[in-house]
Amino acid sequence: MIRDGKPGRSFARGEAGYERALFGTSFNGRDPGRRPERIVQANTAADVIAAVKAAQAQGLKITVCSGGHNWAQNHIRDGVLMLDLSRLNTIQIDRAAMTARIGPGCEGAELNRRLARRGLFFPTPHAPDVGMGGFLLQGGFGWGSRAFGMACENVLGVDVVLADGSLVQADAQTHPDLYWAARGSGLGFFGVVVAFHLKLHKRPRAIGIASQVFGLEHLDEVYRWLDAIGPSVSRQVELQMLMTPRPMFLNRPGLEVIAPVLADSWRAAREAVAFLKTSPLRSKAVVTTPLLPLSLDVMQKGAARTHFPDGMRWCVDNMWTDAPIDDLLPGLRAIAADMPPEPSHVLWLDWRAAGERPDMAFSMEAQRYLALYGEWRNPADDGRYLDWATRHMRAMAPLGVGSQLADENLARRPAKVLADANLKRLEALRERYDPQGLIGGWPGGEA
Ligand SMILES: Cc1cc2nc3c(=O)[nH]c(=O)nc-3n(C[C@H](O)[C@H](O)[C@H](O)COP(=O)(O)OP(=O)(O)OC[C@H]3O[C@@H](n4cnc5c(N)ncnc54)[C@H](O)[C@@H]3O)c2cc1C
Repeated sequence: MIRDGKPGRSFARGEAGYERALFGTSFNGRDPGRRPERIVQANTAADVIAAVKAAQAQGLKITVCSGGHNWAQNHIRDGVLMLDLSRLNTIQIDRAAMTARIGPGCEGAELNRRLARRGLFFPTPHAPDVGMGGFLLQGGFGWGSRAFGMACENVLGVDVVLADGSLVQADAQTHPDLYWAARGSGLGFFGVVVAFHLKLHKRPRAIGIASQVFGLEHLDEVYRWLDAIGPSVSRQVELQMLMTPRPMFLNRPGLEVIAPVLADSWRAAREAVAFLKTSPLRSKAVVTTPLLPLSLDVMQKGAARTHFPDGMRWCVDNMWTDAPIDDLLPGLRAIAADMPPEPSHVLWLDWRAAGERPDMAFSMEAQRYLALYGEWRNPADDGRYLDWATRHMRAMAPLGVGSQLADENLARRPAKVLADANLKRLEALRERYDPQGLIGGWPGGEA
């Protein structure tokens, strides 16, 4: 993504600088072929209000972009006024109150760094440059989220510009329905969030990562083992596995079991990842690394370098699943058989949903999460890879309960992303706050 760091301005379609401004908002390097009528790069909340009023007067629909990391480039639609909020990126931390007020354009890595200096913590995204705006709105599975909750559970309030151009503050007491919707509706949200108020935590003292790598020939037994131990693994560990064409320490396709841990002492951290050492499959692993102390900053940068490099073309899709592992294995084997080249990868997250969550729009999760990230550089390969993730997720959909908005691909494959009752409530709120359907809306209509 090319961010020029200059003060924001407005571009009409076709004007000099328009294309650069457009693609500066997209992590996905693919041109979706769609073109907004106007791009407004807001510098302040007042710019957002003015843009909403202008769109209303001109009869243009509005799409919103904070960090531009929606894989499917949801904000790039034909004929709309596209609001780029990346410049609304301030971070104000109140150490005594353990709260922060951040702009939606603030990046996860910057928030993490500022908090780390003060011994504070928030579950930020796994890659450094993901925008907090889209991340928080859709739920936000961040570092430590198995223990600290979805990021949106740690949102205390939002400042929102509504479709009539008014700026309102919403929290549990004031506009509780807007507050409810802003925690988990993601691209289904019907306002423009110009600030988030966050609850902060004390920073865990021991942060590190342990891992174990296997060749792909062990696929069945490694998935079965991971699934069997999942329920007993501490929530301080984010138990995940990446299937990749070239895992670390191996020059052929394989599986990386990764166990990042955030604990309050090194002893607790070591105990939490001890299952890798005692695993019955350890002798089959190419390597088992000890627990390596690493800052989140380094882990985020590492993830960006190894799995999320800049300038790639992407096709992503996902599912939440509670299906028995033996029912899932044929689909997992089929995915392994035609993975696009590295650094494409398949995430298996042993999430183990936490049971009770607060009442909020976020309402789709299951015990395990499966996401496919296909990436390639050459436009000539679009035809070959573009459908890879969607095709496999379509085939496995009967085994899933729905999709996570973080890695959505609704335009190519409509899926259930909220519980039925929550979707109904959200649509009723949209009808009330944005009866003309001015702001956002699901790609392709329904979710
Ligand atoms: C490399 C990479 C790593 C990722 N890692 C994680 C992860 O660890 N955990 C996780 O949960 N997700 C992760 N994601 C998914 C990511 O959180 C979502 O795509 C999220 O929407 C990105 O936020 P953004 O602001 O960058 O995106 P944008 O593309 O700017 O926004 C996505 C959508 O959210 C809405 N939106 C954004 N900002 C606003 C606003 N201020 N007001 C109203 N609506 C708004 C719009 O509908 C927009 O189309 C990752 C994505 C990438 C590309």
